[in-house]
Amino acid sequence: LLVASIVIVEDDPHIRRLASEALAAGGHHVDTASAALEGLKLVVAEKPDLVILDLGLPDLDGAELLRMLRAVSQVPVIVATAREGDEHVVGALDAGADDYLIKPYSVAQLEARVRAVLRRAEQAEPEPVLEIGGLRIDQGAREAVLDGRLLDLSPKEFDLLALLAGRAGEVVSKRDMLSEVWRQPYGGGDRTVDVHLSSLRTKLGESAKSPRYLHTVHGVGVKLVAPEHPSKQ
Ligand code: CA
Repeated sequence: LLVASIVIVEDDPHIRRLASEALAAGGHHVDTASAALEGLKLVVAEKPDLVILDLGLPDLDGAELLRMLRAVSQVPVIVATAREGDEHVVGALDAGADDYLIKPYSVAQLEARVRAVLRRAEQAEPEPVLEIGGLRIDQGAREAVLDGRLLDLSPKEFDLLALLAGRAGEVVSKRDMLSEVWRQPYGGGDRTVDVHLSSLRTKLGESAKSPRYLHTVHGVGVKLVAPEHPSKQ
């Protein structure tokens, strides 16, 4: 991932141009926004590999935007700040920033931070193949096999299964499913999740009432676990 798609949210046109030109010259695909809400929309739409976020924006504080962003995305974020004092940087890191730049920063500093964050993000990428009981999910090939049989899943059903399998043994909330699979930041999509869970269960040969892999934890979410008797059927 040496070449990445990057969103820069920066209201200063001079810095915005310098940063985007430097990163584009490095082969990256760069999109820019000059305000917080525009930036949030861009990140949701583009699903970039990295965001560079100015903390001093005209419409919303950058730290506030970072919290909103973290509700919908785990994209690596480098915050840029001209503000004096550690507390701004510490606050941004606490709010979910991966790294920071203090303005004025040089192109070389920017490039070094971007390289470091992309390298860490790459190392943190999920296992390409997940195996739980008789279930095998190949995220590269986007194929799921159950007890040796290839499952015919829609793209969203596959993403949902991969999300649950990637966090096997853990209860995943519907809110998390909505934000991770549908990239929807706020509620109102419960029904979408339910419909997909139901069809996923059917394709796995189970139901909410007699679960094997997908266990509903009422009021919390769904947990994927290996069944006690993997080839019961
Ligand atoms: Ca600014």
